[in-house]
Amino acid sequence: MKIELADAKKWIESFVKKLEDEKSTLNELDTAIGDGDHGTNMDRGAKAVTDSFDKKEPGNLADLYKATAFAMIQKVGGASGPLYGTAFLDMSKAVKEDNLELADLIQTGTDGIKRRGESDTGMKTMIDVWQPISEALKNDKFNQQVIDDALNSTKDMVATKGRASYLEEKSKGHLDPGAQSSAYLFESLLEVIGG
Ligand code: ADP
Ligand code: MG
Ligand code: MG
Repeated sequence: MKIELADAKKWIESFVKKLEDEKSTLNELDTAIGDGDHGTNMDRGAKAVTDSFDKKEPGNLADLYKATAFAMIQKVGGASGPLYGTAFLDMSKAVKEDNLELADLIQTGTDGIKRRGESDTGMKTMIDVWQPISEALKNDKFNQQVIDDALNSTKDMVATKGRASYLEEKSKGHLDPGAQSSAYLFESLLEVIGG
């Protein structure tokens, strides 16, 4: 399946609403294994996305993902801003000629994060949500359980990328904040495509 402009816009709008609503949840997760700002960072990005859409309604998919990327890069900051920014920028470039299958779109975003973050699965990052969801989409098995399992898989991992890696073994027992914000992204996607 493919996601078209109207649904893609609903997807991003739902995501930024969740980021605003869950600002304190994300800050709390980041307080446990990072510097406590992931919610504040993503909330700033969320507001920038809304401002951008209000200022100029994206007329096609490439513009929608590009506007999302720019808002994230310019306003989120931290490690997560450039990572989400790269994901959405690569997705924007990929849909420029022709819309992709949703599974390929999400894999493109995942690959962008891996490249930018020099990261892969098992490092207790947002990749541990993006990658399994890309695979579930490819296999037509994308659902809430997949999102929950992917997010929860980060709990017992030892972080080897990002600030949480400074804690080494002590990073165990906590969900990764970027995995949680990514879980919101995919819950929004699920709402829009009807799961
Ligand atoms: P900062 O750590 O700079 O304060 P945030 O708190 O906004 O940035 O974001 C932290 C999140 O970014 C982590 O929970 C993790 O999911 C993600 N992250 C950090 N470094 C990487 C990386 N190299 N690759 C993938 N994700 C990463
Ligand atoms: Mg942080
Ligand atoms: Mg920070």
